[in-house]
Amino acid sequence: MRCEVCGCRINGKPFNVLIEGARLTVCSECAKHGKICYDQPKPKPALSTPRATPVTFKVRTKPQPPPVDTSLELVEDFRTKVRKAREKLGLSHEELGKKLNEKVSLLRKIETGKMTPDNKLTAALEHVLKVKLIMSAKDEKVPQLKVSKKSSRELTLGDLIQLGKKEEEK
Ligand SMILES: [Zn+2]
Repeated sequence: MRCEVCGCRINGKPFNVLIEGARLTVCSECAKHGKICYDQPKPKPALSTPRATPVTFKVRTKPQPPPVDTSLELVEDFRTKVRKAREKLGLSHEELGKKLNEKVSLLRKIETGKMTPDNKLTAALEHVLKVKLIMSAKDEKVPQLKVSKKSSRELTLGDLIQLGKKEEEK
């Protein structure tokens, strides 16, 4: 005889309990806690579960909305901005490197576009150079994507509004 809730073998007397309107034959452990198992069979018998701790079940929740892209997006011309801002402040790579506590070679690579600064360095650059290097999440990004998807024809303003609405509905 198997427990209809946890699926483990019932040792001893089975219990008939009412769980959400359904009469089930369960093991003594499940009867005690009055818990509902959605996963069957359980990999481990519920016997090992401490009495006071509620068992967490794998219940399928509503599909989650796609995660919001929180990664920072650098502005396209960030390296020009970095270079110009640095020159404006009259700083050499060496001096900027000292300020940021970064290697000069790294700064050179950033300015030549061979490397993109990580979030921390970007923030430091923005702070020291007083420039904006990070695109705010919705800037430009969305229309650009739409255009590339529909390259067969030019988008009209109406299309963009339509797309914008669709985007909001999600
Ligand atoms: Zn059970």
